[in-house]
Amino acid sequence: MQRMTEPGQSSPDEENTSLVGGLLAGNRRALAKAITLAESTRPEHQQRAQKLLDAVLPQTGHSMRIGISGVPGVGKSTFIEALGMYLIEGGHRVAVLAVDPSSTVHGGSILGDKTRMELLSLRPEAFIRPSPSSGSLGGVAEHTREALLLCEAAGYDIIIVETVGVGQSETAVAGMTDAFVLLMLPNAGDDLQAIKKGIMELADLVVFNKADLDPAAAQLAAAQMRSALSMLHPASPNWQPPVLTLSATRKHGLADFWQAIETFRQTLTATGEFAARRRHQALAWMWQQIDSGLRSRFREHPGVKGALAELSVSVEAGTTTPAAAAQRLLGLVSHYL
Ligand code: GDP
Repeated sequence: MQRMTEPGQSSPDEENTSLVGGLLAGNRRALAKAITLAESTRPEHQQRAQKLLDAVLPQTGHSMRIGISGVPGVGKSTFIEALGMYLIEGGHRVAVLAVDPSSTVHGGSILGDKTRMELLSLRPEAFIRPSPSSGSLGGVAEHTREALLLCEAAGYDIIIVETVGVGQSETAVAGMTDAFVLLMLPNAGDDLQAIKKGIMELADLVVFNKADLDPAAAQLAAAQMRSALSMLHPASPNWQPPVLTLSATRKHGLADFWQAIETFRQTLTATGEFAARRRHQALAWMWQQIDSGLRSRFREHPGVKGALAELSVSVEAGTTTPAAAAQRLLGLVSHYL
């Protein structure tokens, strides 16, 4: 039903049109508002956000999307701020988004709020958005994908998606970016952890930060990492991940880092892998949406709602097998599929 509009008040459609205009003109307030709509759980906001995304979709896809992960304290925000300032000097517009799994659990956040990256946040060429603070990791990652597209529509040509090195968030971020960067500390032993967890295999680039503290240790860690990487299955068949050292506080190594990203982009573009990755990511995104949509509709189905509690108890008690319970529940919705 069309909502009646008071004289002088704009309708949701008119608001969307002006939001699209503001967004495409690169207005940061319009961008922030559009992301807030996409993050909202209210159905009417979701609808508006989807319309907005449809409207700006042709203007998306033109950025370099970089994922950066590392444990708390490794220097992510210091590095991203220094890199952001460096890129802005080079004429770029930089957006920084976050996927923070901790914010989805407690509402608190390891990545902190906007007060990080103070210098960068003052620059008109930068846009910094903390992680959405509610929902599952999947939901947060979903909103970050949408935010990423909205930033592209607003003309940001470099998008950095930051995440903490815990749990599944690295996989989510690697699945929405073109280049995945692992930030590490020499001597921290987190390299072994990363190898164990399979995160190393997501990396397109490995960077040892804080090289100023002990340059020799940083060089040694880099050499060891190169040899460890040569034995792993790389993320790309066309690219052996380089290992760099840098100092984010002293701004040493930023140019080399950016050169490595440029070389990566050129190499993968030449082989067609750059575009292929994005195609796979888009399809995987569609399937994730289908999976989560099916799951929530399944749980809301009245028959399922009625039977779920009792069957769950039987499965826990061992009186019904998980497979039999799943079959019965799925049977309740089989005529829809
Ligand atoms: P994050 O938790 O990964 O975002 O880490 P931060 O950027 O907040 O940095 C954690 C601490 O390490 C801060 O006190 C930084 O000043 C410090 N730090 C970051 N980069 C460097 C670096 O290159 N060298 C040194 N010596 N300290 C650094």
